[in-house]
Amino acid sequence: MTGRSTTNDLIVITGAGGFIGGSLVRYFHERGGRRIRAVDKKPVADWYQRVPEVETLCLDLSLEENCRRAVAGAAEVYNLAADMGGMGFIERFRIECLRNVLINTHLIEAACAAGVERYFFASSACVYNAALQNDPNVVALKEADAYPAMPERGYGWEKLLGEMFCQEYWAERGLKTAVARMHNVYGPHGSWDGGREKAPAAICRKVVDAVERNSGRIVIWGDGTATRSFTYIDDCVSGIDRITHCDALIATPVNLGSSELVAVGDLVSKVERIAGVKLEREYDLSAPRGVAGRNSDNTFIKKMLDWEPSTTLGAGLAATYRWIQKQYRARHPRRDAVQAGVR
Ligand code: NAD
Repeated sequence: MTGRSTTNDLIVITGAGGFIGGSLVRYFHERGGRRIRAVDKKPVADWYQRVPEVETLCLDLSLEENCRRAVAGAAEVYNLAADMGGMGFIERFRIECLRNVLINTHLIEAACAAGVERYFFASSACVYNAALQNDPNVVALKEADAYPAMPERGYGWEKLLGEMFCQEYWAERGLKTAVARMHNVYGPHGSWDGGREKAPAAICRKVVDAVERNSGRIVIWGDGTATRSFTYIDDCVSGIDRITHCDALIATPVNLGSSELVAVGDLVSKVERIAGVKLEREYDLSAPRGVAGRNSDNTFIKKMLDWEPSTTLGAGLAATYRWIQKQYRARHPRRDAVQAGVR
């Protein structure tokens, strides 16, 4: 690995009020980063994580002048800002997803104009050709499978265009860009309620809810056969760091995902085991489902970095379940008190 910034270089992380951006701020801070600027459009009170000593800016980065302000003086910029969510969100709000091109367009231009050394872009497995994902018995997706292009409508096209910006800013203007195609990231400090959450968080919350209310039931989106791989947040932020600082990966999209494939029904069983319950299942076949199957082929990342995400789904889910249980109980204190026998 080469080209790592020093602890005194200014690192700018956008989307820092969200899940991955917030976790990346903490990751760099824990590794000695002393000049970190965290940027998000949400009011600071709504950020998922706050790290003391880190500069925070509330800016809407779909506006050009805000992007210039956000990156001023930066050595590295990590673009994690996007209006996005789980399948329920990206299938319903394609325009919001497409409008992220404003952030991606203005931020990379501002970063280049400001003389930033490295620029990271958070792409997604949703860039992959949908025709290759019609079968739950998947052949894992390798980087070349994004073309010929037929990505997820809205969100996938936004990401594919964002990747192309990174490739052309390197080719034409010499900006060192890095692109990770992230596969279903989950873990503590992510969305777990409200419609933007992804499958692992949604299932953990539903199981917590069933346990706390003693309902004995769970509603599952789809028929439980769809398959996915899920990437634990610690692997994700470590991967972003490794990919961004690898000169051999400049402007080269690379999968950042676990290759541990699981069917949604088995994901539910894993969470049930963590919670120590067995629930009656109801399948909602009218709910958004996404593609039938998707997994990450990690041949390329292993070759380039001698590394791949390695947290097992069991370990990651256990940590996620505990965190969501805590959030749930904080939000429903009376229910918690009743359970504990305190009226
Ligand atoms: P998140 O929703 O938790 O965080 C995104 C943050 O961006 C939010 O806090 C939001 O307020 C902020 N934002 C939105 N529009 C903005 C704007 N105009 N200006 C400034 N900030 C704005 O999402 P996340 O899961 O942390 O995802 C981060 C990035 O990683 C996104 O680009 C997402 O598309 C990408 N990604 C995520 C996953 C995943 O599984 N979570 C998978 C693949 C790619």
